Amino acid sequence: MIKILIVEDEIPVAESMIRGLTEAGYQVTHEPDGLMGLQKAYEATFDLIILDVILPRMNGIEISKKLHQMDGFETPVLFLTALGSADDIVEGLDTGADDYLVKPFNFKELLARIRALTRRKSANVGGNMLRLADLMMDLDAKKVIRAGEELKLTAREFSLLEFLMKNKNRVISRNDILEKVWDMNFDPGTNVVDVYVNYLRNKVDKKFDKRLIHTIVGMGYVMRED
Ligand code: CA
Repeated sequence: MIKILIVEDEIPVAESMIRGLTEAGYQVTHEPDGLMGLQKAYEATFDLIILDVILPRMNGIEISKKLHQMDGFETPVLFLTALGSADDIVEGLDTGADDYLVKPFNFKELLARIRALTRRKSANVGGNMLRLADLMMDLDAKKVIRAGEELKLTAREFSLLEFLMKNKNRVISRNDILEKVWDMNFDPGTNVVDVYVNYLRNKVDKKFDKRLIHTIVGMGYVMRED
């Protein structure tokens, strides 16, 4: 199912988009606040992000700028702009956004743009990919590639990496990892998580310049570029 994030603070506009797109078979996530919208875009993988320009706390142009600063960010971004705001359009496209629609727009026009943008994306990357810096996970083909080299992971290592990558830039506790990767709702009193994170480090980070898996003392782990 194609997943779309809509960041739009005008509730009637958002609601009609949510209704129409859900009926058209898309899975829609909506966020009215700019900063929260950016957060959602960091936390989950979407096939398309629709950004209004004027938003509370962080505007759409700023959000697009931040997203496109991430290495490997390839999610198409569609801007919604108000009539007569040519500067917004230019500035928006300059940040790396793919397309824009001027409000008020026709719903059929929106659907056409969405089809074009999501098609272009799947032609480029072919589906279910997670990326961080030069590390890429293909969830369908079960492949992990770093700097062009394929890394051989066990099934458990793959699940652990997938969980960390899906939550990149977020600190994940050992308990979260046990629950989501091992399906354990209790602490087995072992250091199984640390052991597996070490296995992963040896394969994913050890011989590369930039470390992606970080330990946050007393908190857990985070995958990020720094
Ligand atoms: Ca707005």
